[in-house]
Amino acid sequence: MKREKRVVKVGNVFIGGTHPIVVQSMTKTRTSDIRKTVAQIKRLQNVGCEIVRLAVLNRADADALKEIKKNVQIPLVADIHFDYRLALQAIDSGVNKIRINPGNIGEEWKVTEVIKKAKDKGIPIRIGINSGSLPPKILQKYRHPTTEAMMDTLDEILEIFYKNNFLDIVISAKCPDVLKTVEIYETIHNRYDFPLHLGITESGLLFSGSIRSAIGIGILLYKGIGDTIRVSLADKPEKEVIAGYEILKALNLREYGPKLIVCPTCGRCEVDLLKIAREVEKKLTKIKIPLTIAVMGCVVNGPGEAKEADFGIACGKGIGTIFAKGREIKRVKENRLIDTLFEVIYENINN
Ligand code: SF4
Repeated sequence: MKREKRVVKVGNVFIGGTHPIVVQSMTKTRTSDIRKTVAQIKRLQNVGCEIVRLAVLNRADADALKEIKKNVQIPLVADIHFDYRLALQAIDSGVNKIRINPGNIGEEWKVTEVIKKAKDKGIPIRIGINSGSLPPKILQKYRHPTTEAMMDTLDEILEIFYKNNFLDIVISAKCPDVLKTVEIYETIHNRYDFPLHLGITESGLLFSGSIRSAIGIGILLYKGIGDTIRVSLADKPEKEVIAGYEILKALNLREYGPKLIVCPTCGRCEVDLLKIAREVEKKLTKIKIPLTIAVMGCVVNGPGEAKEADFGIACGKGIGTIFAKGREIKRVKENRLIDTLFEVIYENINN
């Protein structure tokens, strides 16, 4: 059941309520390497990343946030583990949100210090629980990071937030197991009205990680649970954002850029369809408006799908037919297919 959540504001981005699901990622550079970090964030911005998190390991990282912030457009989140003082310094550097981990931030007074400063600056805090780093006393009690152990961790830290009358909170509770993640988020969703940041942590390399994330995040979003997502991949962060939008587009929750339909090819295909599709995908990254493009291998499903899409190619033997808005536009040789398709696309979207 969709349960409307509280709304928090991260820079100029809203999370929760009826706002669109926000796509975020995390940089993989040393944050103190300002040049590389800014370049990576700019690449993330280009693919539609809406919020970016940065690891803050030391004072140099926390200080670098000031300069990074001046050079990028999207809101910054400081990812803090172990040392609450780094959270305070990151807030002074102007970040738009702090993520703390209840498993390692330490005693209540340290959490309170972070809450007070965030309150002064009017920024939210994400309580980011990870199954791999629960507080030692909780692990002693439960022995394993069960749902109950993660919920106890959350309930306990929330008490500190309540005492300080601070409700500008986002919650995440990630683990690498897809079904366990679903169970934990459902439990949190039913108990609290704070917006939820979804993700399958340490989900894997591009292929397996995208699938696990799509299933876990997809199940939750389909049930109306979740307000912002991060697909964690052991790959370039831009791919996390692309994967995030693919999940949202598949569920009709967001429109972002083109959607490419490609037939899987079979023995009937008489062109190098994969080469054509990869080239089309690359060229489509320049288009930011929502469009459906079909690249189809033969006359079986080709004309049908190509007509249904905004634009499409249906191939034959060394040739292909270009479709636009359901109409057949022209037939061209295989080596002219891509250029002609994009000429037709640009003619139509520029008019
Ligand atoms: S569209 Fe044609 S080539 Fe592509 S999978 Fe279907 S039958 Fe095979």
